Amino acid sequence: MKQFQYVRPATLKAALDVIGKPGVKVIAGGTNLIDLMKRGVTAPDKLVDINHLGLVDHQSLKDITETKTGLYLGSLALNSVVSENNMVAKRHPLLAMALKAGASPQLRNMATVGGNMMQRTRCGYFYDTTMPCNKRVPGTGCGAMEGINRMHAIFGASQQCIAVHPSDMCVALAALDATVHIAGKKGERKLPFTQFHRLPGEHPDLDNNLAKDELIVGIEIPDNNFAQNSYYLKIRDRQSYAFALVSVAAALEIENGIIKNARLAMGGVAHKPWRLFDAEKALTGKQPTEENFAQAATLAMQGAIGHGGNSFKLKLAPATITEALKHAAGLV
Ligand code: SF4
Repeated sequence: MKQFQYVRPATLKAALDVIGKPGVKVIAGGTNLIDLMKRGVTAPDKLVDINHLGLVDHQSLKDITETKTGLYLGSLALNSVVSENNMVAKRHPLLAMALKAGASPQLRNMATVGGNMMQRTRCGYFYDTTMPCNKRVPGTGCGAMEGINRMHAIFGASQQCIAVHPSDMCVALAALDATVHIAGKKGERKLPFTQFHRLPGEHPDLDNNLAKDELIVGIEIPDNNFAQNSYYLKIRDRQSYAFALVSVAAALEIENGIIKNARLAMGGVAHKPWRLFDAEKALTGKQPTEENFAQAATLAMQGAIGHGGNSFKLKLAPATITEALKHAAGLV
């Protein structure tokens, strides 16, 4: 591994002063970045460890706090801490379920909320520096397009890249209409969670819309009425420590036997958490029945494209949507 400098700023301002320069990478839990460095996928000159922000200005990024309109997760809150937090469990069990479905207990003890969002795809060609990959080295081609693509995208892909975002947490946050709080030298800005990650388009090297000189400082989840009827269903090759083939975050607000509000997002199918807006609209005002769920799932699959190895997802995905909705509605 290439030698690198290591700095540990104690304030957000000090961190913002150093990030964004060429060769600089931010490290928090390091559960993905260290792998990337060991494999030679990335080789920073300087690592900026943000785990100690708040030592001087007491602006902790680890806290989980109530706001007037929801719940705020500091970007350095650990995945394990968020998943076990009482307020999260009571208000947003969907998020707790998604977090517990991700990685392993050891990894969740190190991984942060912000790091989870910033993790890179697990496409094998991206990690193998002897293979072509437009995401790792733009313009070299996409090894997965005609290669092994069982785990890859069926929605929103481009000729440049068919990778998927690997997070479970992000799928739940996309469904829950979360907002990303971002700090930069000019101040703080907010971005809807569904607009944080990008589709590959002509620039698969860009995973998200965070500028190089910005830091994620927190996530805000607005209050909602989904706690009673929500479910995260993850289909994978084994029951733990495996990425999703397909996952579905389903949340329903049911009043007098009618769906008043629905939220649906999928993981393992696109370069970003894939929100199913049309299916949500189709469910609104309907009864929570298996037939209505299956119709919404069929609608959600419009535009899906298989690439050979991953074409089984064209059947698996609608079945997973239907099943997740059945669980959310208490039908199973
Ligand atoms: Fe690279 Fe994306 Fe193709 Fe994978 S799918 S090889 S990440 S360009």
